[in-house]
Amino acid sequence: MAQESRVRNIGIAAHIDAGKTTLTERILFYTGRQHRIGEVDDGTATMDYLREEQERGISIIAAATTVQWRSFRINIVDTPGHVDFTAEVERSLRVMDGCVVIFCGVGGVEAQSETVWRQADRYRVPRISFVNKLDRIGSDFDRTVAMIEERLGVAALPLQIPIGKEQKFRGVVDLLKMRALYFDEETSGRKVVEDKIPEELREEAELARDLLLERLSEFSDELLEALVEGKDVEEGVIKRAVAEATFTCRATPVLCGAALRNKGVQPVLDAICDYLPPPEKAGYIVGRHPTRDKDVKFRLTQKDPLAALAFKVVVEPHGPLVYLRLYSGRISRGATVYNPRLRKRERIQQIYRMHADKRENIPEAVAGDIVAVTGLQQTTTGDTLCQKNHPIVLERMEFPDPVVQVAIEPRSQVERRKLEEALAVIEREDPTFRVRKNEETGQTLVAGMGELHLEVLTKRIVEEFKVDARVGKPQVAYRQTVRGVGDAEFEFARQVGTKMQRGKVSVRVEKIETPGVTFDNRSDGDTIPPSLVEAAEAGLRFATDGGVGYGYPFVNIRVEYMAQMVENEATELGYHSAAVEAMRRAVAAAGLVLLEPRMRFEIQVPEEFVGEVLADLSVRKAVIEEVKSVERTKVVRGTIAVSRTFGYATTLRSLTQGKGTSSMEPCGYTEVAPEEAGITLIGG
Ligand code: GDP
Repeated sequence: MAQESRVRNIGIAAHIDAGKTTLTERILFYTGRQHRIGEVDDGTATMDYLREEQERGISIIAAATTVQWRSFRINIVDTPGHVDFTAEVERSLRVMDGCVVIFCGVGGVEAQSETVWRQADRYRVPRISFVNKLDRIGSDFDRTVAMIEERLGVAALPLQIPIGKEQKFRGVVDLLKMRALYFDEETSGRKVVEDKIPEELREEAELARDLLLERLSEFSDELLEALVEGKDVEEGVIKRAVAEATFTCRATPVLCGAALRNKGVQPVLDAICDYLPPPEKAGYIVGRHPTRDKDVKFRLTQKDPLAALAFKVVVEPHGPLVYLRLYSGRISRGATVYNPRLRKRERIQQIYRMHADKRENIPEAVAGDIVAVTGLQQTTTGDTLCQKNHPIVLERMEFPDPVVQVAIEPRSQVERRKLEEALAVIEREDPTFRVRKNEETGQTLVAGMGELHLEVLTKRIVEEFKVDARVGKPQVAYRQTVRGVGDAEFEFARQVGTKMQRGKVSVRVEKIETPGVTFDNRSDGDTIPPSLVEAAEAGLRFATDGGVGYGYPFVNIRVEYMAQMVENEATELGYHSAAVEAMRRAVAAAGLVLLEPRMRFEIQVPEEFVGEVLADLSVRKAVIEEVKSVERTKVVRGTIAVSRTFGYATTLRSLTQGKGTSSMEPCGYTEVAPEEAGITLIGG
């Protein structure tokens, strides 16, 4: 068997406030890239490099950072701490091979930890658990381990037990080596001191080890044999068993510590190397052929053709920086790669390994690597890069449609240009962000995944891009669809200036399940010039983008159309106009339906406030699906119309003395009466 590569692509995920930033900072410090420990509380954390994030104390941008530990290279893909930014979470899960999930030793498995865990389940990402904050009053390692098993339905395998509790928490016992580990305070924990297990913990440690081995024997025949024969089990055998159980997602090894007190961090790094899988472990990557109906499969080695996923774009002054995960093959500086979506080759200029404090220019990258490259002008998030003679398309990341929008008005023409530049940058970086023009008012609308998302983005426009603009209040990004089937035919004939403009288009609109709008051209190519058919289709796109009906983009419809010949004076303008009018009539005939996005929410509040929170949710007409107790916290789950969510974060704070938290994500649409939404038909 070929030797396993010493690369690990991992993420660090946690409930907000569990200590992800603190742990990540320690990791950067102990792996030697940084000379001072950045503290979250004073806003100097290296990975949270955007000011916006520092203000909020949360990570909302996924960056990939490389560190070196033992002889391993660990690429840390940053995952956002707030589940509102679901698209960011999903895309980082896509490119990692393993994950460290942090739990707070006081709060245990909180509702958001469950959300994170479920997301990781969906992508079958192997996980190590780290129980943090064991220095805090009320923390309890055993209770948290039990909660992991119960709530997450996974076998929890504690590889350590804590030495001392709360303020007296001093270190950990390593149950594999059966040694105590202490973290030297003088060197901010850099020096790890090994010692014998304290006498008073000896028995507990023995028991814990026996239990661990017994449970592990379910996952490893080699270990089971050794146990049955009553032999001493070698450390290597145990490690292999833990790695195997972790890889299959049937179990999660559990470590413990207090990141803020610099305790327990290096064993997490060791565990990443020992128990999370190398990039080639899965064997193959499967994608689709871009033009033929067949799967394409490459081995995860540099000998196979290139398959790389662009998972993040950051627009910089000298051009875009594109983060790539290479699954197979290799790329080198100056090489040309093929982008099957664009049906184009693009050239890679420089390849960088990104460290928290600097970027390192490297000549090439190979299967398994995560790197950032320059030179790709048009590649966007979710694109596959490959070789033209071995094309492959990896599954695209799906991002939900935006649900909230705001109007943004530059204060002068100069500012308008700056705004357009800023919007173009953000649109490339963030696939869940959309820009639209309101055709009636000429206003620029920006749309996103929720109020908080838009708040962050508009602040960026004003502060980072320094655009002087008025930002409106958040509005619902409504959609429209039709109830049934509608047919219409329209002939346009009008004198514009001195010229007669004519065109004739017939349209059938019908409701379908497929998202978005599907077009089906039935025009007779023999009798009608392509330029007129294209003009008709442009008119239809204008109409389905919000040009007719209630003025919002259509979803779930199929548009069948036929551009028909007129005797003479056929013009593109004529066909465009005929198409718009035919659509207006067809959708009216099919029955227009206005749709409002709904949000799935999860709210956590201390017990004593739950009454008021539920009363307020009922005023907001939320549908409550579940109220459950997690220790002294109530978790409320349900759905709510997006218009009822505006300002909710502030309300929740005041209802709960700042102790409640909430997260939301889009979950489809429901019909709403136009009168209720205060919306009228365009043109009457
Ligand atoms: P994140 O939201 O998951 O990134 O969490 P942070 O790293 O920002 O930590 C949230 C808060 O918990 C901060 O005030 C940290 O100082 C604190 N914190 C993190 N780790 C520990 C720990 O081990 N012990 C204690 N007592 N506090 C911690």
